[in-house]
Amino acid sequence: MWFANILNNRYLFSALQRVAHLKVCHTLKLSIFETMTYNKLTPEEENIIQNKGTERPWTGEYNDHKEGGTYICRRCNSSLYKSEDKFDAHCGWPSFDDEISGAVRHQTDSDGRRTEILCANCDGHLGHVFVGEQLTSKNARHCVNSLSMRFIKAGDPIPDMIGG
Ligand SMILES: [Zn+2]
Repeated sequence: MWFANILNNRYLFSALQRVAHLKVCHTLKLSIFETMTYNKLTPEEENIIQNKGTERPWTGEYNDHKEGGTYICRRCNSSLYKSEDKFDAHCGWPSFDDEISGAVRHQTDSDGRRTEILCANCDGHLGHVFVGEQLTSKNARHCVNSLSMRFIKAGDPIPDMIGG
């Protein structure tokens, strides 16, 4: 009897329908998320990108890399930095004084002092950004692990972003 009363109450019924719809959408979204797979990472890349590690200075393949092109996220292919914004900071890691608009998320590091930078699309750890060092006119240094990025030469196709 109480159930029939609910069905007779049009307002309540439509509210229940909305909840059911939300549940279905949520489930669909979850299943899409679960089937989406990022690029496979080596244990070294996982240590940097997922466990927020830092590669040893002067060891990264892009530290002294000066070719023109785009640096994309190694995990999800999102375009992160342009070679025009790369500069030689002599710090042992690839350095950029600007990011591709909207591609990089900034958050306070777990040490409470530094600013961590992450891929805005997949949340992969990139490195840290330091502001106010007066190294370039933009006054910022994105200190990025080579293992977090993959370089795409100018003119070569950039692979589709995963999970965008
Ligand atoms: Zn990413």
